[in-house]
Amino acid sequence: MTIISPIVFHRRPAAGDAIVGHRVELQLLTTLKCNLKCSYCSLGVGDVLGSQTVLGYDIDDLDRFVRTQLAGKEIYVTFYGGEPTLNRPLMEAVMQRWPQWRYQLQTNGTLLDDLPPWVLQRLSNVLVSIDGGEAITDGYRGRGIYRQVIKNLRSVRAAIGGSVTARVTWGNPATGFDELDALVADDSPFDWLYWQFVADAMYDGDSLERRRAVLRRLIARFFERRDALYPLIPLMGIVRNKLLPGRARELYAGHTQCRVSSHLINVMPDGSIYPCPDLMYAPQMQMGDVKGNWLRASPLQQTPAMPCAGCEAYAWCRGNCVKNLWLGYVKNDERYRRNVVDPICSLLRFIGEEVDRHDPQAWFQALPLPLRRQLTDCEVYEYVEVMP
Ligand code: SF4
Ligand code: SF4
Repeated sequence: MTIISPIVFHRRPAAGDAIVGHRVELQLLTTLKCNLKCSYCSLGVGDVLGSQTVLGYDIDDLDRFVRTQLAGKEIYVTFYGGEPTLNRPLMEAVMQRWPQWRYQLQTNGTLLDDLPPWVLQRLSNVLVSIDGGEAITDGYRGRGIYRQVIKNLRSVRAAIGGSVTARVTWGNPATGFDELDALVADDSPFDWLYWQFVADAMYDGDSLERRRAVLRRLIARFFERRDALYPLIPLMGIVRNKLLPGRARELYAGHTQCRVSSHLINVMPDGSIYPCPDLMYAPQMQMGDVKGNWLRASPLQQTPAMPCAGCEAYAWCRGNCVKNLWLGYVKNDERYRRNVVDPICSLLRFIGEEVDRHDPQAWFQALPLPLRRQLTDCEVYEYVEVMP
């Protein structure tokens, strides 16, 4: 008897299927060069930093890609790098070609004053990397960088059309409450502060307890204020998610809040596309190519190997950072799991407990309506990971 095997049709994904939802964040790495040498730079892993110095696609390739793969989507671009302002011609060409898109710049801030006013005017948000106060920032980035960045920001602040967000990598256990608080003081050039716990083995000894002590004060300060929001995006986002858990899902279609599983795509200078900028060295993470004009769904997803389903924080954390979880629990890098992933998760759970101690419901009920609106709908949630 001849056995006829069933015919299986493998449907090529239709253009547009790869992105979940109606919006897409197109993170364009204009170059992998940088004019600084931050000691913890995540692009140093796999020697990504500096590896591509020439653009492998042109603006017409990008146009074709967008028209076929992203048709009908609301597009917001983040210029990313390396230091993206080192390739101003690409930034300007994109902004001129698609004036209807929203734009964000992720920069180290040292060259901000070189950007023309019309570019600054079109930016909905500028994320400026800084590590806290002067001593810690200069320790990681080089002497004089903190002052240079603040000076640049003050000189261009009025020309920037949107908001300015301090983007802090909280690496040093000595980072104190006062230096973070100063970044959002009334005379600061920053509107918002977003921090992320460093993805490096910097959590030994008493460093977790030192971070908890700072977090305790930041959270207390957050709930003290009722005249204005204390503009710390991770605390705002966590409180929002606890009060309105649906918000933690709706913008990301139930996936992780940093958008890598649903609608964030990182375009390398050579045109290859990856979901997370920290995993661009991993070939299995490639999800598309601008020049080849293809895009598939993000391969970076929650899996049962990750511990989130049984975690008390899941309802509001939603499994950030999924790259950390992937390295620790799918790639089974035990050292990374023990020294990076698990300590960060313990800090997240601590934040959740500390927020609950302050009765966020009662606090929210007492807020004036415009502040409630800021807490629930802040635009910066669309540009950063939300979870620290
Ligand atoms: S704290 Fe960690 S384990 Fe818990 S939901 Fe968040 S990422 Fe997952
Ligand atoms: S939070 Fe998201 S974008 Fe950031 S490193 Fe983790 S997976 Fe990547």
